[in-house]
Formats: sequence, C-alpha cells, structure tokens
Amino acid sequence: MSKSRKITIVGGGQSGLQLGCGLLSHGYEVDIVQNRTAEQVRDGKVLSSQCMFDQALQNERDIGLNFWDAECPTVDSINFVVPAPDGSGKAIDWNGKLDKPGQSVDQRVKIPRWMTEFERRGGTIAIHDASIDDLERYAKQSELVIVAAGKGDIARLFERDAEKSPFDRPQRALALTYVNGMLPRPDHSAVNFNLIPTVGEYFVFPALTVNGPCDIMVFEGIPGGPMDCWKDVKTPEEHLAKSKWILDTFLPWEADRNRNATLTDDNGILAGAFAPTVRKPVGRLPSGAIVLGMADAVCLNDPITGQGSNNASKAAKAYMDAILAHGDRPFDAAFMQSAFDSYWAYAQFVVGWTNALLQPPPPHVLNIMGSAQAFPVLAKRIANGFNDPRDFFPWFAVPEEADAYLQKLAA
Ligand SMILES: Cc1cc2nc3c(=O)[nH]c(=O)nc-3n(C[C@H](O)[C@H](O)[C@H](O)COP(=O)(O)OP(=O)(O)OC[C@H]3O[C@@H](n4cnc5c(N)ncnc54)[C@H](O)[C@@H]3O)c2cc1C
Repeated sequence: MSKSRKITIVGGGQSGLQLGCGLLSHGYEVDIVQNRTAEQVRDGKVLSSQCMFDQALQNERDIGLNFWDAECPTVDSINFVVPAPDGSGKAIDWNGKLDKPGQSVDQRVKIPRWMTEFERRGGTIAIHDASIDDLERYAKQSELVIVAAGKGDIARLFERDAEKSPFDRPQRALALTYVNGMLPRPDHSAVNFNLIPTVGEYFVFPALTVNGPCDIMVFEGIPGGPMDCWKDVKTPEEHLAKSKWILDTFLPWEADRNRNATLTDDNGILAGAFAPTVRKPVGRLPSGAIVLGMADAVCLNDPITGQGSNNASKAAKAYMDAILAHGDRPFDAAFMQSAFDSYWAYAQFVVGWTNALLQPPPPHVLNIMGSAQAFPVLAKRIANGFNDPRDFFPWFAVPEEADAYLQKLAA
C-alpha cells in the first residue's frame, strides 16, 4: 500500500472493532461510527451470550485483542441432553470435549475495552446513529465504507437474499439470564445444551461479566409453545423467576444447579426475537455510491448454535485479508462481492447447519445425536464442529452420508 487508505466502519461491535483494530495495525486510517458510548454499552443491557470457540478466539489473539484470558472461565466441552418424553429423566446424554477451550466475555466488558484499544492504536470513534445520508457522506470521505451495524435498522439497506434466507419470521423466542451462584457441573465446564422436543432449547455455560465470572442461561422457545413466555415479564425478578420456572418444569437436573442462582445485575437479562436473514453484501445508496455489509448486518443467524460472534470474528478476518490483498486498487463492487464471497465460502455451512437445527430434527439427525452417546469419537466430533461447522458437511446434512458414517463407526 503506497499511502494510507481511509476506511469508515459503521458499527463498533464484534466485527467492526476487530476489523478496525486489525487495519490500524497495518497502517490504514480507520474511522468507526458507533451509536453508543463505551459507558452506555457497559451500563446497558446484555447483548448476547457471545460464546466463542478457538478459531474465532485465535483471530482476536492474532491482533492482540485477547485481554481476558486470565480471568475468563473456560468452556471445555459440549454436553448434549434430550429429556425422556415421559419425564423420567434423560433419554440422551453425552459429553464431547473441545480440543481447545471456548470463552465468553460479556460484550458489555469487551466492547468498551476494544473501543479504548481502537483509539489507542490511532483510530477515531464518532458517537452517532448513522443514517443513509451519513453513509453518503462517509462514502465521499473514505475509500471504503463497511456497515457492521448488526441487527441495527440501517442493515435494511442491503437487499434480503431470498434464496439464502428460508425464514421470513423469527424461529425462536429468545431470552438471556446472567446469573451468579449456579452450581458448577462435575468434571469440567461445558455448554450444557438441552433439546426439549416441541418446546425449545436451553443452554448454559460459564462466562465473564461486568462483576466477574458468571453463568449465562440461553432460552430458545419454539414460537407459541410454553417457552415462548417472556411477553408479560416486566421486572428483572420476574425474568429470573420465569427462567427458574422453565428449568423446574422441563429440566429438573438444570433446576437443581440453579436453586440459589441470583441475577448478576438488573441488566443481565434480555428477551426478544428476530428472523435469521442473509442479505446481498453490496448496498447501493441513493447517489449510486456503494457500501459493503459485514457480519450480522448481512448474515444474521439464530443463536441456537451460538455462532454469531464466531461468524463476526471470521467475517472481520476474511474482510481484512481481502483488503490487505487488494493493495492500492479501488474498492469497487467486484471487490466487495469477492470479499463477501470469501466469507460466504465458510459461512454458508454455518447458516445451513444453524437453520437445520431450527427445524424438527429429521430421523438421521436424531440417529446421529443419539449415537454420540455410544461413540465418544462422534461426541467429540460434534462438539468440535461448533468451532468449525464445515466439518458437519456432508454427513450431518445428507441422510445417506449419516448412515454410512454411523455404520463405519459401528464397525
Ligand atoms: C440472545 C443472543 C445470544 C447470542 N449468543 C451467542 C453465542 O453464544 N455465541 C455467538 O457466537 N454469538 C451469539 N450471539 C450473536 C452475536 O452476539 C452477534 O452475532 C455478534 O455480536 C454480531 O457481531 P456484529 O459485529 O455483526 O454486530 P454487533 O456486535 O451487534 O455490533 C453492531 C454495532 O453497531 C451498532 N449500530 C447499529 N446501528 C448503528 C448505526 N445506525 N450507526 C452506528 N452504530 C450502529 C450497534 O450499537 C452495535 O454496537 C447471540 C445473539 C443473541 C441475540
């Protein structure tokens, strides 16, 4: 690169700040436009459960953004449970160890720290809720505008890609509850993932929040079912009580761990819903200027597989590699499309796997998930698939491939 190229990123979340910090280290001039101050993020409601696995964490380590390795509890395994239909206990229960640990740092902790780091490296942050008119201005002032605004409304400027988006409405009623005082599981830590057929999913894992280590409970209720139950919940106390009610009703082994749990803080709760959506990555402004979408803004997944922050980290890495490789050439539509394509070469598998898990499991998936109890090697493979979901294909997706693989394991 012969001169410092100027790039504006709208949205200072997982992907925007990671890419921004990375580009600054390579000599780019980077502005981030962020609609909340560091204090507002830190003092606001939780945003995510943000459990990240090794590949995504490695991207953060590579650019020196891993500030919490000493304090953040590790996530060492995936534990999968399906309750027996007659309420007599667990029909399926297995544990697969992760090759390398995962980690969840509350974004209320991570984002403010990364904002400070971004400025320390020479970046500029403007606190402003960017509009289309603002994008026009940024497009004139910089060589490339990247929109990394997550679920922010501005992402609607990117056309929905109907071919890649099978759902036009939310597939789960979502809720988060951050707690202290949960009993640890025996042996080692895990994402304890419970699938309650026709009701929804509940998963829980250790994390680091604003006041130290905690556990994060994630509820995924099938719309209209008994876990789609958050609309009348008004206070943090009611939110915690509703969380405990779900466990008492459907997952007594999780309820036992949780008897003495208290909220980490009144903002350690969230409830909502959104439709998983993939959008076209090149956005055209009224003037004809173009902007590039990144991460959730153009590839929004349901949290059922806990992949959004992982994807955001991988999108930021893919875009950084594309920008560096592009040298001094103009950031035109062909560049934007190819940067997204290099990310989509990976993300398509995450989207396919995540969307599949939102549907009632077909027989071959039930067979795989049940067989993992008998075959530790399969349990381990599924667990490590959370780090790189490409490994689920084709055997998780194609019934004949699943049968052939399971037969091979049995032999
Ligand atoms: C309930 C729930 C649980 C989740 N659990 C997990 C999990 O366990 N593991 C995992 O990997 N992922 C999880 N995710 C997803 C993950 O949090 C997101 O996918 C990830 O944060 C997306 O990163 P991003 O950079 O695309 O957007 P974000 O991190 O959302 O950042 C977008 C930023 O843009 C800002 N912004 C928006 N509009 C504007 C605007 N007009 N102008 C300026 N700024 C703007 C926002 O305030 C925000 O700071 C979960 C999400 C939810 C909702």
